[in-house]
Parts: sequence; C-alpha cells; structure tokens
Amino acid sequence: MVQFVRCKVCGYVIKKSKLGDLCPACGVKKTAFEPYELTISEKRMKILELHIHPILVHFPQGFIPAILLLSILVAVFNDPFQNYFLIALKIFSIALPFVITAAAVAGILDGKIRFKSIATPMLKQKIMIGSTALILSVLLTVSAFLINVSSLEILWTIVLGILLLGCSVFLGFIGGRLTCSVRVGK
Ligand SMILES: [Zn+2]
Repeated sequence: MVQFVRCKVCGYVIKKSKLGDLCPACGVKKTAFEPYELTISEKRMKILELHIHPILVHFPQGFIPAILLLSILVAVFNDPFQNYFLIALKIFSIALPFVITAAAVAGILDGKIRFKSIATPMLKQKIMIGSTALILSVLLTVSAFLINVSSLEILWTIVLGILLLGCSVFLGFIGGRLTCSVRVGK
C-alpha cells in the first residue's frame, strides 16, 4: 500500500517516498507534511496526475492568439508578406478544431474521473463554452479559406479570433478556480 503525505500549509498531496526536503508546490520544509489517507482510488489518482487536460489545453490556447495575430497581419500587410501570413493562418486554422476537440475530450474524461459527473455547475459551464469555441473554430477555418484579400472575410476572421480568445480566457478562468491548491495564510 502506497503511503501519501499532505502539506499542511498548501494542501499538496504527494507519495511519502517521493517527498524531498521541501514541499514541491509551496516550498515549505518537509516537517509541514502530515500522513494523508488517499480518499480516492490510486487508479483515479494516477490518471488525474497525468494532467492530460491542462497539457492539451495549451495547444488551442497557443493557437488562438497566433491566429488572431496572423489575421491582423494579413489585414495590415501587402504581398508578398500578406500571402505568407495567410498560409500560416490557414495551417493554424485547420489544426484548431482538432486541438480543441482533443482538449475537450480530455476535459470530459478528467471531469468524469475527478468529480464522477460532468453535470456539475462549473463543468456544465466549461462544456458550453468549449462547444461554442469548437463551433467558432470551424467557422474560422471556413472563413480563413474563403479569404479574398479585397473582401470583408479577413475582418470576420479577426472577429472570430477575438471571440475565441474570449472563450479561451473564460475557460482558463473557470479551470483555474477548479484547481484549489493554495498556500494558507494572508
Ligand atoms: Zn506546500
């Protein structure tokens, strides 16, 4: 049976055998740790500790600002640069719905294992915003491929990029609130 310990200062839980001199999360001395009885199965703990959802979320969170920046550059520059930026924009746009889907699937899996249900108020909110982001990303891919330099499509692409950025910030905000490890004390 694996023994776990918990930091009394920040709540961080770690295998006793892996604990060094300091709490890896908040940096206090290891004397601040107390024995901790794992309240979830080791199997659930193992899957959650892979942090698949937070890792996969970095892809859309990186792609979305890049797409927004590239669509602004397409609007601002003339050829040949405009064309280079447009090619990059198209590549990121095609990839976006896929990386959002991957992050969403991992998020649903994480929610099911972490909270045993995805019908919680915050998870329902995340699923709604995530689905909106997926729809917006498909629209963005379509508009990036329709861009005719002398048309309004580029403006539409910029608007979609801004909306996606909003979804991404909001999702990060809720996700951040769901991770509740914090060092105690004012
Ligand atoms: Zn700590």
